[in-house]
Amino acid sequence: MKASRHTANSEARRPSHHQSLYFKDGDLVISASGKSGKTLLYRVHTAILAQFSPIFRDMLLLPTETSDIEKYDGVPIVYLPDDQNDVSEFLQALYNPSYPKFDPCDPDYPLTAEPILKLATKYEVVSMTEHIFDQIKSQWPATLSDYINMELSLASRRSCQTALENPPFPSIYFSCPEPAAAISVVSKYDTSKIPLAAFYTLSTTGQKYSWSKAKELGQCPQNRPARWELLDDANLVRYFKGKYAVSELHSTLEAVIARNARPPSECTPGYHAARAKFNMSLEWEDRQMIKPCAENISSASEKIVKRRICDGSEAVSVVHNANLIMKTYELLDDMPNWELCPSCRSSTRSALQDMMKSTWDSLPMLFGLEKASTRSNPS
Ligand SMILES: [Zn+2]
Repeated sequence: MKASRHTANSEARRPSHHQSLYFKDGDLVISASGKSGKTLLYRVHTAILAQFSPIFRDMLLLPTETSDIEKYDGVPIVYLPDDQNDVSEFLQALYNPSYPKFDPCDPDYPLTAEPILKLATKYEVVSMTEHIFDQIKSQWPATLSDYINMELSLASRRSCQTALENPPFPSIYFSCPEPAAAISVVSKYDTSKIPLAAFYTLSTTGQKYSWSKAKELGQCPQNRPARWELLDDANLVRYFKGKYAVSELHSTLEAVIARNARPPSECTPGYHAARAKFNMSLEWEDRQMIKPCAENISSASEKIVKRRICDGSEAVSVVHNANLIMKTYELLDDMPNWELCPSCRSSTRSALQDMMKSTWDSLPMLFGLEKASTRSNPS
C-alpha cells in the first residue's frame, strides 16, 4: 500500500477539483497526479470507499493523531500514487456501477475498462473486477453453438459488405469484439478468465490482418483483424501453441470422414436398390451413376484435400487460418449432397459432430489455459 498522508508541499502547483467527483458532503479528499504533473483532487465519501475496498477500509481505520492529519478544504487528504486518469475512471465506476457504458459489440470495451480493472484489483474491489470480467466474457460466445452462430452471422454480414464496391459503413470487424484486447487485458489479472472463444477466434486469423492498418485503409479485410501488438510473450506462445494444435487436428479431418466408408453390406438394407430403381425412371441424361457409400465418402474427403491443395499455400493456410470448427460445420452442411444411405449418413454426421465438440471442449488444453487462476497484480 503506497498511499500515504504526507506533509503538504506548498510549492506544488495549484491542484484543481475533479468536475463531477468533488462532492460537497464528501469527508475525504483524494489527490492524484497525472503525466503532465498536474494534480487533481476528488472529494469522496469514506463510507463508500470502505464498503467496497478492504484496502481503503484498513487505511482509513489507521489510528491517527489528530495533529498529524493533513487537511484540505476542512477534511483529511490522502495522496494516491496512482495515475490520475486511472483514479478518475476507478472512482467513476465506484459511484456508478454501470460505468463505463457497455455495448456487447464494442471492440474497445476491454481497453476502456482496463484502468478500472487495474485499480479495482489493486484496492481489492472484488465486485468491480468480477463485473468487468463478466462483461468481457459476455462479449464472446460461451458455447459451441453460440460460436457457430457468431461466425455465420459475421460471414453473411461480410459477404453483404464485400458485395458493395464502396461500403458506406466501416468494416463489420470494427463493430464486433476484438480478440487481442480481451486476451491481453484479462490475462494481466486472471488468465483463467480469458474468454476461450477469443483465443480460438485469434487462431483462425493471421498477423498480417492488423487492426490499425485495416482502420487506416478503411477497407474490410479478408480475415478478422486484431491488435497483435497488445499480446505479450506468454499470449503469443499460447496463440502459436493453439494454432498448431488445431491445424494438426485439422489434418486428421479426411481420416475422420474416411473411417466411415464401410462395405455396401453394412449400408441401410434396400437403400441403394431403391435409388437404382428411381434412377431408372428418370430420363437418361438425368440418371446418376449409382455409387456405393464408401465411394461417395472417399470422393467427399478427396474434395477436402483438393480444396486445400488448390488454396495454393496449403501449409500456410492450414497453419494460419485453419478454422477447424467452421470447416467441419461446412462439411456437415454439405453432407446431403454426398448421397449416403441413412446408416452411413448417421455415422458420418456423428463423427463430424464429435470432431467439432471435442475441438471446442479441448480449447483450454490446446491453448494452455487449462490451469486454474494464476493471479498477478501488475501495478
Ligand atoms: Zn451406406
